[in-house]
Amino acid sequence: MVRWVDTHCHLQLDERPAGMLLERAENVRHVVVPGVDLESSRSARALALRYPGRVSFAAGLHPHEASRWPEEREGLAELMEEAAAVGETGLDFYRNLSPPAAQVDSFVEHHRLARASGKPLIVHCRDAFRQIYDLLEREGAGPWVVLHCWTGGPRWSKRFTELGVTFSFAGPVTFETGDTVRRGAAVIPPDRAVVETDTPYLAPVPHRGGPNEPAYTPLVGAALGRVWGLDAREVARLTGARAARVFGL
Ligand SMILES: [Zn+2]
Repeated sequence: MVRWVDTHCHLQLDERPAGMLLERAENVRHVVVPGVDLESSRSARALALRYPGRVSFAAGLHPHEASRWPEEREGLAELMEEAAAVGETGLDFYRNLSPPAAQVDSFVEHHRLARASGKPLIVHCRDAFRQIYDLLEREGAGPWVVLHCWTGGPRWSKRFTELGVTFSFAGPVTFETGDTVRRGAAVIPPDRAVVETDTPYLAPVPHRGGPNEPAYTPLVGAALGRVWGLDAREVARLTGARAARVFGL
């Protein structure tokens, strides 16, 4: 059986039991569970302890919650020491649920903590390509920077490829409206990519609109395979190798 790595799966934010979702994701050998705040980073850690070798966790504060960074930073920094990765963090200037300046402060500190500890950084990027690019160019980037749910078109995909980052593809690459994402993917070397579900959000076609789960990871991989002219086995191998290298699986 072809087996995948789901590099971004919020099992702890799903109402359904994590054990059940993992059990039916036989085709997924490893899952990375990122936190979105202190509490969800703690529950991500609990899942990693419960499913060693199958689940890793990341600790971080989502840009939507960035205004809570001053209160949560100490607890999160402590969790990061044990985590496989730092995140998710990033910038979301589409919804601006936290003020932009608070998002930048939180993101820069996550970046520094990841860099200092040698851990990967999981980055959420919405309506902020330019700002994230400039920040990474200034502060440093490489394979350890994972651009989660990458939706950039060819121009940004090329520029970020030059920074050496890892691109994580999710459901939008399967959407009928996902042409820009697919054109972006076409210019990215397949060995720079990983796949994710972003469970419970953004379920890929044909489950779009319903709850997502790790068992759907191959649908994302198959869509990428169609872009690159590769079969699913080869996409699973390339994305799995990149994920193993970046997350130290
Ligand atoms: Zn997420």
